[in-house]
Amino acid sequence: MRRDIDRIMNVAERPPVVMVKGAGSWLWDRDGRRYLDFIQGWAVNCLGHSPSVVRETLSAQAAELINCSPAYFNAPMAKLAALLADLSGLDQVFLCNSGAEANEGAIKLARKWGARHRGGAFEIITMLGGFHGRTLATMAASGKPGWDELFPPKVPGFHKVPLGELDAVAGAIGDRTVAVMLEPIQGEAGIFVAADDYLRALRRLTRERGVLLILDEVQAGVGRTGRFFGFQHAGIEPDIVTLGKGLGGGVPLAALVAAARVSCFEYGDQGGTFNGNPLMAAVGCAVVETVKREAFLQSVVTRGAYLADRLGALARELGHGEVRGRGLLLALALRGRDGKKVAASALDCGLLVNAPRSDTLRFMPALTVSNEEIDEMITRLRASLA
Ligand code: PMP
Repeated sequence: MRRDIDRIMNVAERPPVVMVKGAGSWLWDRDGRRYLDFIQGWAVNCLGHSPSVVRETLSAQAAELINCSPAYFNAPMAKLAALLADLSGLDQVFLCNSGAEANEGAIKLARKWGARHRGGAFEIITMLGGFHGRTLATMAASGKPGWDELFPPKVPGFHKVPLGELDAVAGAIGDRTVAVMLEPIQGEAGIFVAADDYLRALRRLTRERGVLLILDEVQAGVGRTGRFFGFQHAGIEPDIVTLGKGLGGGVPLAALVAAARVSCFEYGDQGGTFNGNPLMAAVGCAVVETVKREAFLQSVVTRGAYLADRLGALARELGHGEVRGRGLLLALALRGRDGKKVAASALDCGLLVNAPRSDTLRFMPALTVSNEEIDEMITRLRASLA
């Protein structure tokens, strides 16, 4: 196994465990150890590990049609596009494979729109600390500390401002500006919520100044915050929204969703071998049909409140800081403890949590997590913090 593992490119620091099985909120390694999973593939497995709806959809769709090429329509592709258009209030959808690909598409679409409707404007205002993916353009759009230096020359056309500062955005919009792009909750930065008032003000400002509002809901979308889209808390509608992660419930699937007035790609502008693949799109339909139900979304609100409550109590008990976030995308601010070390000791306690920064733990369990599993997580976290 070691020799085989050495053949994997070293792009991430991984603990020496090999996962072999998952069910609901639990993962097992090949030595039979069981882990309570509050990472869930980075907020991906919204219905937990190997949920029956995903397994059944995969096998039913695989028996019908796995791939017909993006040169032809297929039924799941059309159904998922219609579902996402209806839910978002927007009009047209491009299905793809990853959050970065969806965001890359959003950047291209905005530039195309700028070329056509705003005198060649191409610059996009993004947020310091923001994360949009690991392609060259999405890395340039991201405001992750240190990324400015990587892989020169950088893709030009991005201007960064601090999250939450409306005046900074207003001052940065010029003739070359085509859009403002942000996450409704900065996830990789450590869970920082863009306030509803700020999002509403950004929506007003972008309309007044004739530029687009692009929301990256790759992490916050698909029910994670207790609404299907994070922007629904603010009661606004963006011009473009991107989805990924939870959309496939564990299979690679992402989407670029746009208003009709912005949806200006022409033949050849955008595409990809696997876009609209029926096997993935069918799973996406099953996930969306499950998550969009009012009772399901309400249960995310209830479970999120319970998790926030229990984390808050633990923080008070052990002298840690605030609990941030919304729904089931939460963070705990640590005091006097290094997040990476806590996450490593949690692994030893059979708990999977992630530390997006050294002073923060992040919690992104299955949206179906039970109160008992939340209690068990708190028990294991208390031991990890000890
Ligand atoms: N946008 C956001 C907000 C994300 O959290 C991520 C992934 N962490 C991405 C984009 C990139 O998605 P992917 O890894 O699927 O390319």
